[in-house]
Amino acid sequence: MEVVKVTPRGYCYGVVDALTLAKRAAKDPTLPRPIVVLGQIVHNRHAVAELERLGIVTLDGPDRLALLDTVPDGATVIFTAHGVAPAVKARAAARGLRVLDATCPDVTRTHELIREHVAAGAYIVYVGTPGHPEPNGAMGEAPPDRITLVATVEEAESVPLPPGPLAVMTQTTLSQWDTAAILDVIRARRPDAVIHNDICLATQLRQEAVVEAARDVDLVIVVGDARSNNSNRLVEVVQQVAHKPARRVDSAADLDPSWFVGVRRVAVTAGSSTPTAVTREVIARLEALEPTVEAGRRA
Ligand code: SF4
Repeated sequence: MEVVKVTPRGYCYGVVDALTLAKRAAKDPTLPRPIVVLGQIVHNRHAVAELERLGIVTLDGPDRLALLDTVPDGATVIFTAHGVAPAVKARAAARGLRVLDATCPDVTRTHELIREHVAAGAYIVYVGTPGHPEPNGAMGEAPPDRITLVATVEEAESVPLPPGPLAVMTQTTLSQWDTAAILDVIRARRPDAVIHNDICLATQLRQEAVVEAARDVDLVIVVGDARSNNSNRLVEVVQQVAHKPARRVDSAADLDPSWFVGVRRVAVTAGSSTPTAVTREVIARLEALEPTVEAGRRA
């Protein structure tokens, strides 16, 4: 099988930094034990398992405040790359926990923007994925009656937009094409809105590269965890923008031979939280595959 390796793919700077912080913590004898990560450090079970092997405990769940209450007194707590709400930071400080903050700087920038606009009296529309920890953390920067979450064009068309200053921010890992459509709707409704498109550079470059590569292949394989927002968006942009088939796999074990019947060229990319070794194994498995023109017959 001819395999096109899409570049860039895989780990972004925010994920590399978060994993480096956690691995250094595991080796640091001066840090109080246990060392606990509040949620998955990045959305990938292989990366989480690697930290577990180093003795780092992952508490999993969308409500970071509730998770924090289960952290034992005297522990070290790590905030994930997705960021946390100020209430979580305040409670960790009040409990005297040792905190290591792995929030990606790009996420921190959105938190800062929300704070600035709220202080200036603006109402905030946050474009993001419901239930994902990044919106949960960012939206905690505004009083609940000064911010609303919008996930779709339909919601952007119908969401009440109060009079007065309006500012819009986005999650970092959204589809650029879906987000542009949502922002267009808000802009048309409120030309005075201050709009910040916070999709990060790593996400943009991975999406653009896979859409470009998809044009010359029969199928795209995205290596990434089911919970990884940016991996799911990579599948989506291939299907919706390049109009080519795409499948997400967690590892090489998920590759289904029936997907490759009649496929001669396949492109492989990976979400920004996918370990390189996992992607490498998928590529090796695909390269070893012989193209078939139809089920049961070799090309
Ligand atoms: S995907 Fe973007 S925002 Fe998220 S950790 Fe990576 S660089 Fe940071």
